[in-house]
Order: sequence, then C-alpha cells, then structure tokens
Amino acid sequence: MSKLNVPYKIYLDEKDIPSSWYNVRADMKNKPAPLIHPATLKPLTFEEMRPIFCDELIKQELDDNTAYVPIPEEILNFYKMYRPSPLTHAVFLEEALGTPAHIFYKFEGNNTSGSHKLNSAIAQAYYAKKQGLKGVTTETGAGQWGTALAMACSFFRLECKVYMVKVSYEQKPFRREVMRTYGATVTPSPSMETKIGRAINEAHPNTTGSLGCAISEAVEVATSTEGYRYVLGSVLNQVLLHQSVIGLETKAACEKYNIKPDIIIGCAGGGSNLGGLISPFMGEKLRGEADYQIIAVEPASCPSFTRGKFAYDFCDTGKVCPMAKMYTLGHDFIPSANHAGGLRYHGMSSILSQLYHDGLMEARAVEQTSVFEAAEQFARVEGILPAPESSHAIRTAIDEALKCKETGEEKTIILGLTGTGYFDMTAYEKYNDGTMSDYIPTDEDLAKGFAGIPNINL
Ligand SMILES: *Cc1c(COP(=O)(O)O)cnc(C)c1O
Repeated sequence: MSKLNVPYKIYLDEKDIPSSWYNVRADMKNKPAPLIHPATLKPLTFEEMRPIFCDELIKQELDDNTAYVPIPEEILNFYKMYRPSPLTHAVFLEEALGTPAHIFYKFEGNNTSGSHKLNSAIAQAYYAKKQGLKGVTTETGAGQWGTALAMACSFFRLECKVYMVKVSYEQKPFRREVMRTYGATVTPSPSMETKIGRAINEAHPNTTGSLGCAISEAVEVATSTEGYRYVLGSVLNQVLLHQSVIGLETKAACEKYNIKPDIIIGCAGGGSNLGGLISPFMGEKLRGEADYQIIAVEPASCPSFTRGKFAYDFCDTGKVCPMAKMYTLGHDFIPSANHAGGLRYHGMSSILSQLYHDGLMEARAVEQTSVFEAAEQFARVEGILPAPESSHAIRTAIDEALKCKETGEEKTIILGLTGTGYFDMTAYEKYNDGTMSDYIPTDEDLAKGFAGIPNINL
C-alpha cells in the first residue's frame, strides 16, 4: 500500500455535505459572456427566460456575484441518499502503473441513475415544484440525464416528459425502462406530437433523431403546456453551480487528510462535472491563494476546446434556444458514427470556456480506443466499471502518472469519476471485439461545422 497516511476510501460524514453551493463566477475577473437573444443579440432578461425556465433557476443563471448559495433543506435531504460520495485513493492503480504519483478519484456513480447528473436534477426538480409547476420537459441522448431527472421528479411528485433521441430509444431500452419505472413519459424524438417533430419527420422520413432535435421538441412542449418548464442537464451556469457539491466535498476530503492536489482532471462534455469538481479549487486559484494544473479531457472526435472556436453559437441544432459564447464546433456539428464514448455535445459551458480562454485551465483530446484501454485497466485493478465518459479522465490521469514515473515526481492527481458504465456495454463489446475504431475529424470536416457559426462580435 501507498506511503501516504490516507485510508483507501475517504468517507465524509453526512454533516460534511456542503450547506451551500459555490458559484465560481463570483471570483472570476472576466465573467462568462451572457446568454443572448438570437434576434436582438441582447443579453436575455429574466422576463424573456420565464416562459422556458423556472424562476429561481433563472436567478441562479444570471447571478455572477453571489459566491455561496444555500442549498435548500429538501435538496440536502435528498443528497443524503447518496452523498457524500467517497474520494478513493487509487492505490491499486498506482501499483499497477508503478508510479510515484498519488491518484485519487471522486466517484459519482453511487446512485441508481449512475452519474453526477442527479446532483443538478434534484435541484432543478425542487425549484420547479416550489414554483407550483406541474411538470418539466427535457431531452436525453444516451439517457443518463433523463434517468436522473426521472428520479428527481418522482421524489417531488412532478411530471416528467423526456424526449429521447430515437436511435437511443430503440437501441437502449434499459435506460428507457428505468425512466418509465420512475414515472417519466419517454417519447422517441423526432415524434409526431410536436410541430417541429412533425416537420422534421416530413423532411427526413427515416431520421433516427439527434440531441439538437430532441431539445427543440422539449422546449416546444414546455412553452406550450400549462404549468410546464424546460430543464437542461449540463452547459448552463446553474448546472455548474449545483455540481459544485462534487468539488466542495472533494476539497473537504483533501483537507481532512492534508492532501494537496497538483493536477485535477475531468472529462468535458458540456462541462458540468468538470466545472463542479474544479470550482472551489479554481476559486482559490482566481483569488491567488493556491495554484493547480487543471485539465479538461475531451474526445478527439468531438474536440470543442482543443480545436473549436470561441464564439457565440446556438446551443441546439433547431436554433430554438438562446445563444451562448463558448468553445464550439458549430451547432450543425455531429460526431462521426463510430463515436461511442459520450461527450458528443458541440459546445461547452460558458464558464469553462472563459476560464480556458484566460489560460486558467488546459484541455486534452484523447482517442476512444485509448480511452477504453484505460477504462479496462482501471476496472481490473480498482473494481469499478467506469462510464466511457469518465474514462477520458482516467486516460489522462494514467498518462500524467506515467510521466511522473519517468521524472520521479510524486505529484498528487485527482480525477472525477463521473459514473458507471453498466449501460454502455455495447461500446465495451466493440472494444473487446477489436472492432472499435478511432476517428479524428479533418480540418475540412470541422470547417463545415464552423461555417454554421453565426458571425457575431460582442
Ligand atoms: C453526462 C455525463 C458526462 C458529461 O457531461 P458534463 O456535463 O460534461 O459533465 C460525463 N460523465 C457521465 C457519466 C455523464 O453521464
């Protein structure tokens, strides 16, 4: 076992669940750019957002100044079902790698939905209920967010309508049935229930759907149904705020055992888990109290940070949502068909985009076969079967630990292990069969997506 005087699993007490979320925007000198209205190009106001989003969540979205937002008791009570999540010292992985580095992982897969998404789902469901709403709509791709939201809505007895990308609805029946078990209605998208769905079905009769299309349907239903609002599981400022619970607990666990991380690593899809994990550490960095190397890891097949443009773009293919300034591959960008490992969103959280733009964090792009190689290596020694998304962070953590082996440096690495891979066995099957391939888009491929980015200089 490792020389560090730290238990294998650091469990915090129930009372150590943070009582407030931390809003990293309060400590950012360059605030993230606001969401703007596509027609007026003006920052969206509270009133303009009200038909789409819940009131309290809009306030959180717009609040760049309040550092600590108290977590309501009802949400804290729900958090107690699966939090605090353990911070584990990956001694078996260190041993297998023969590295002098110390590796820790914060595991967020310890709940039925299987990922960190429940941290924000429960908050969003709570505020919808408190506002007296009847229900919420959302989209889901592979299904993690839909599952988390279904659980959260059933807890607060709120209706939940999920538009699930048709190809996933047909090919991933298990997540669909988990959602239905928790009382959600799940509709394959594009459907014939919405105007936009019917239009898309007419224009593309055999389409298997896309996330962008499912978002458009969910927004249409939310805005045209009495007592309904639309909710989103990543990208938005409010989601990063809720996910700060991950970072705050990580920090508390570090402080308990005097662990001083040098490198903090997380996978980046829309940026919510990474934003949540790094928030309190980034706060220290922004205030000049400490320094950390922070690394976002993304798929080489969907490289928003490493090859994207920092620009205002639409958040969805259907262009029904507001525009955000972010690192983007263009709202028309769709990763190649061989892409298996999640993290397929074209854009990135505005908060993380600004931090990256200001040089406060780095990004790496990794190829999927090397991601699954890392996943398998991790599973075999640490026991947990990681989600493909999480395995991007594992890949980079292993790479950094192997660098330490070369240099003899005893760095401390923390990685966000966002979820389990039980529903991703088709991707694991491809890897095990040796039929998984890598695809890195060419500059020409990316140029097509970039061409769709509106030319807005704000
Ligand atoms: C959704 C998801 C991600 C990516 O989303 P972020 O908003 O970037 O965190 C990562 N890991 C798992 C397990 C997920 O379900």
